[in-house]
Amino acid sequence: MRTIPTLYQGEKIDAHAHIGEFGGWANLECSADELLNSMKLYNVSKTVLYYADNELVRKAVSEHPDKLVGCVWPDPRSPDARALVRRAIKEWGFKGIKLHPLFNAFLPNDEIVYPLMEEARAAKVPVLIHSGHPPFSLPWSIGELAENFRDVTIVMLHMGHGNGIYIESALNVARRYDNIYLETSGVAMHTKIKEALERVGEDRVMYGSDIPFHDPLVEIGKVCANDLPARLLERVFYTNVKEVMRI
Ligand SMILES: [Zn+2]
Repeated sequence: MRTIPTLYQGEKIDAHAHIGEFGGWANLECSADELLNSMKLYNVSKTVLYYADNELVRKAVSEHPDKLVGCVWPDPRSPDARALVRRAIKEWGFKGIKLHPLFNAFLPNDEIVYPLMEEARAAKVPVLIHSGHPPFSLPWSIGELAENFRDVTIVMLHMGHGNGIYIESALNVARRYDNIYLETSGVAMHTKIKEALERVGEDRVMYGSDIPFHDPLVEIGKVCANDLPARLLERVFYTNVKEVMRI
């Protein structure tokens, strides 16, 4: 008889978390201390961190360089976006670029994104893109960008998020473009995590919590509900994030 799966206790790297305030409908906030406490609780040795206020992230990363990994979050419509990205990678030691097409209202494959993709290519850092909400952040649109930048690694955050059709399309788009990786936070169907490992690849799916939007208890549990073998748990929770982020 099947027993209740336990949460994976091994060392983890979280590919997706935020500190700061998300007001309005979200009504959420998280401090650096709260994040660090949560990491201790769930045996997360490193967390990849991003927030629209890049200075807040810069400060937290500089205070905890062994635990926090910064990604820069530019608004591609801003004339300073490219300079910000360059400064964050070269001077602050940030390891990736986060794009939020819904939050900043642009299509992933819009030409305003291209200079940032060129920076990612030059610096050999991944571009992490929110997915799952129409009209700006659907998996097919992220696929268009991946097709135009085959040599840039793209992490599709939420792997389609809350809608089964989008989640299925995230898997299909990632199968088509081997520069797309999938991140598990907020995804509504735990079964699709296992399916992604089988259909997209064992090295192409990574754990993220999206703190404070989701709790590690739920997000770790969602991966573990699939009864994956130890080899795949280590891949999802640790090795794949480490390899893609080059940390
Ligand atoms: Zn997020």
